[in-house]
Amino acid sequence: RAKADKKRGLLFFSHQMRTDLVQRSELENDLRNALANKEFEVYYQPKVCANNHNIKGAEALLRWHHPSRGMIPPSDFIPLAEKQGVIVDIGAWVLREACFQTKQWHALGFSEFQVAVNVSAVQLTESDFPAVLHDTLVETKLDPQLLEIEVTETALMTDVELTISILEQIKALGTGVAVDDFGTGYSSLNYLNMFPVDSLKIDRVFVKDIGIKSDSKDITSSIIGMAHRLNLKVVAEGVETPAQAQFMKDNACEYLQGFLFSKPLPANEFTDLLSRS
Ligand code: C2E
Ligand code: MG
Ligand code: MG
Ligand code: MG
Repeated sequence: RAKADKKRGLLFFSHQMRTDLVQRSELENDLRNALANKEFEVYYQPKVCANNHNIKGAEALLRWHHPSRGMIPPSDFIPLAEKQGVIVDIGAWVLREACFQTKQWHALGFSEFQVAVNVSAVQLTESDFPAVLHDTLVETKLDPQLLEIEVTETALMTDVELTISILEQIKALGTGVAVDDFGTGYSSLNYLNMFPVDSLKIDRVFVKDIGIKSDSKDITSSIIGMAHRLNLKVVAEGVETPAQAQFMKDNACEYLQGFLFSKPLPANEFTDLLSRS
C-alpha cells in the first residue's frame, strides 16, 4: 500500500512541478539577499494633471534586477516578500530612496513635485510604519505634504480598526493617503468614508475598457462622482489612449497616469523627462 501511494505521489509530483518548486525556492533565497546586494532600483512613472497634462508628481515603482534572471516584475516578487516579511525592509528602503530622489528634483527647481509610494498591508500593519515614516521624513527633510502613501483597497479591508489608526498617524504627520486599485476589491465607496484618505486611484481594468464597453464608462463616471462627494481626488491608472484621457478629463477626474504619458522610468531618465516638460 505504502508503495502504491508513494508511486502515485511520484507520478503526481511531476518534473515540471519539481522544476517550478526549485526555481521558486531559489527565488525566495535570492530575495532575502537582494537588498544587501543592491539589486533593487526605484522607477518613476509620471502623474499628470488631466486638464493640461503637466507633470504633477510620480509614483515610485520597485524593480528587481536579478543577477541571472534579469528584471523580475513586482507582481512576481512582492507576494513572496510579503510572505517572508522582507517586504518591511524593502518597503522602508523604497520609501527612503523615493524621498531622497524627490528632494533632488526639488533642488533642480521642481519645487512642488510630489511622490507616491506603495505600501503593502504587511508593511503597514506589521511594522511600526508611522515611526519609519516619521524618521524618513526627518532624515530626508522632505515636505510631508509632497508625499503620498498608496494602500490597495484590499489591504485597507484586512484589519479595519488597526488600519484606520495607522492611517490617522500618517495623516497627523502631514502625509497623504491614496486608495490604490480601487474597484478590484469588494468594498463600497461608502465604506471608504471610514478611512482618512485623500485620493482614490481607479484601477486600470475600468480604464482599459473605456471606448470598448459602455458599462465601463458608466461605472467610471459614477466612481468619480461618488469619490468627489466624499471629497477625494481621483487618479486614473493605466491611461493608454487619448480617448481614455479625454473621457477622464470630461468626467472631472483630476489626475492621469499611464503609458500614454510615459512608462515607469529610472530616476535619471525621469529627470530628462522633467527637464523637457
Ligand atoms: P500599482 O501600484 O497599481 O502600479 C501600477 C502598475 O501599472 C505598475 O506596474 C505600472 O507599471 C503599470 N502601468 C502604469 N501605466 C500603465 C499602462 O498604461 N498600461 C499598463 N498595462 N500598465 C501600466 P508595476 O510597476 O509592474 O507594479 C505592479 C504592482 O506592484 C503595483 O501596482 C504595486 O501594487 C506593486 N508594487 C510596485 N512597487 C512596489 C513597492 O515599492 N512596494 C509595494 N508594496 N508594492 C509595489
Ligand atoms: Mg500604486
Ligand atoms: Mg494601482
Ligand atoms: Mg495595480
